[in-house]
Amino acid sequence: MPFLIEEYFKIKQELNPSQTQLIAVSKTKPNEDILEAYNAGVRDFGENYVQELIDKQSALPKDIHWHFIGHLQSNKVKYIAPFVNLIHGVDSEKLLLEINKQGQKKGRKINCLLQVHIAKEESKFGFNEEELNSLIQKYFSSSPSNNIKLDFINIQGLMGMATFTHDNSVIESEFLYLKVIFDKIQTFKGSNFNPVILSMGMSSDYLLAIKNGSNMVRIGSMLFGNRN
Ligand SMILES: *Cc1c(COP(=O)(O)O)cnc(C)c1O
Repeated sequence: MPFLIEEYFKIKQELNPSQTQLIAVSKTKPNEDILEAYNAGVRDFGENYVQELIDKQSALPKDIHWHFIGHLQSNKVKYIAPFVNLIHGVDSEKLLLEINKQGQKKGRKINCLLQVHIAKEESKFGFNEEELNSLIQKYFSSSPSNNIKLDFINIQGLMGMATFTHDNSVIESEFLYLKVIFDKIQTFKGSNFNPVILSMGMSSDYLLAIKNGSNMVRIGSMLFGNRN
């Protein structure tokens, strides 16, 4: 299925009042579909798989901003470090340190979001609130309990995925929970910690996400059709 341009303009209108940023999730979709979206004005695309992202990045226009939204293994950071615009799913200290190391090697600060586990499913990734707070305390507070300086990391905010359910009240309460955490961590602003992005919401729940404070949504199937 090609890029659904009418859906795109409809979603853009819905996001406009709250200035919410749209990431078009193009995983598993061919380059032709991405180019259709590009020609309609989309510049921010989200991908979940490292090899697929590398192939697309090398073949497609260089002014595309690539977002890595999947679960990232530490040993693969090096492949995307030279060009990735934002890594949404930083879900472990090990991964954070590796991103910093690869940023240093490539001489660029890498933008990241810390992923918070808000859903009921254990299979979803992310820090719980306590782990998030101790990580921030350790590396990003004014008196870090660690002298490793993450000079090649730029934390821009948080990302979360709600439970897959038809019960909107569950989804809303999870989004609201993440918004409250997002508001709380504002006290930690620093040179490499500027939490301004709250990435939450996908095709099925982006309206609920915006209502609860999201300012970045990641939408795939509504723009490109269902994936196999
Ligand atoms: C695939 C994916 C999306 C997009 O999902 P749709 O339901 O197709 O909109 C958003 N976020 C993440 C993390 C994903 O893996």
